[in-house]
Amino acid sequence: MIAYITSVLWYTGKIDSPLLNLYLLVIITSGMTLGKLATLLVLGLITALYIFMGLPTLSRGTLTLEHFSHMMTMFSPYLIIAYLTTMLSADLQFAKKMFKHLSETDEMTGLMNRRSFSDVITSEHNKSVRYNHDYSILMVDADGLKTINDEHGHEAGDKLITSLAKTIESCMRESDSLARYGGDEFVVFLPETNKQQAKDAGERIRKAVENTSFDMHGNLIKATVSIGVSSYPEDADNAEGALIKADRALYKSKREGRNQVCTTVESDQ
Ligand code: GH3
Ligand code: MG
Repeated sequence: MIAYITSVLWYTGKIDSPLLNLYLLVIITSGMTLGKLATLLVLGLITALYIFMGLPTLSRGTLTLEHFSHMMTMFSPYLIIAYLTTMLSADLQFAKKMFKHLSETDEMTGLMNRRSFSDVITSEHNKSVRYNHDYSILMVDADGLKTINDEHGHEAGDKLITSLAKTIESCMRESDSLARYGGDEFVVFLPETNKQQAKDAGERIRKAVENTSFDMHGNLIKATVSIGVSSYPEDADNAEGALIKADRALYKSKREGRNQVCTTVESDQ
């Protein structure tokens, strides 16, 4: 683009060309797409080309203060536009990152939300198929959150949800993924984990929650969780199916009295 504009200017009057401001297009494009450093380099290159094209004029005399102030007058709008476009571009990049973060994160707990978790398990499932690994899913749901909300207020319910997120996270491995799936429901993805290992992990989470409590305006609040476990390839041949099976197993835990870890069995399928 710079080469093309320079050649156009060369044949239309060089530094006196009425098309000189075409360089602004380059500066704006660079400022919006290439960042500060590249825009500074582009500006340097344009300045060098400007001096080169103006050499015949300059060589008539030395580079006088008059020449210098003429150049500064000519380049100050370029500098201002370069500065403004790079600032605007940086703001847009920041807003884009923020938007991505907000659209993928649950605001209350800071965990992944359902949508980003769905992307994670799709890619993890593909990896497991490629390397012939198993994986498991845990669906975790708080028992009786409605009652806690009714008896101690919504604030206590919120605190319980954030406390559950921390407790579950503390029982996980680095490679596991946790998301808030909705309301008081969480989902854990356990790569390279068979059903028995997943049941053990679920049991660890169940016990940890049972042993955790927090204070709310002088009242000690405790809760339990019910957990459903499913595994690939034992229960399903795709991630969606494994999630459905884990959900069924969770409702089995609820039906059978809550505060327990269940897996699906043939009769549930
Ligand atoms: P169950 O043992 O069957 O799970 O009963 P539950 O009372 O926990 O009810 P359920 O899981 O079916 O529904 C979750 C309830 O949790 C619904 C809603 O009243 C409450 N809830 C959902 N999201 C929030 C939240 O962000 N904050 C609070 N405080 N409560 C929530
Ligand atoms: Mg619940």
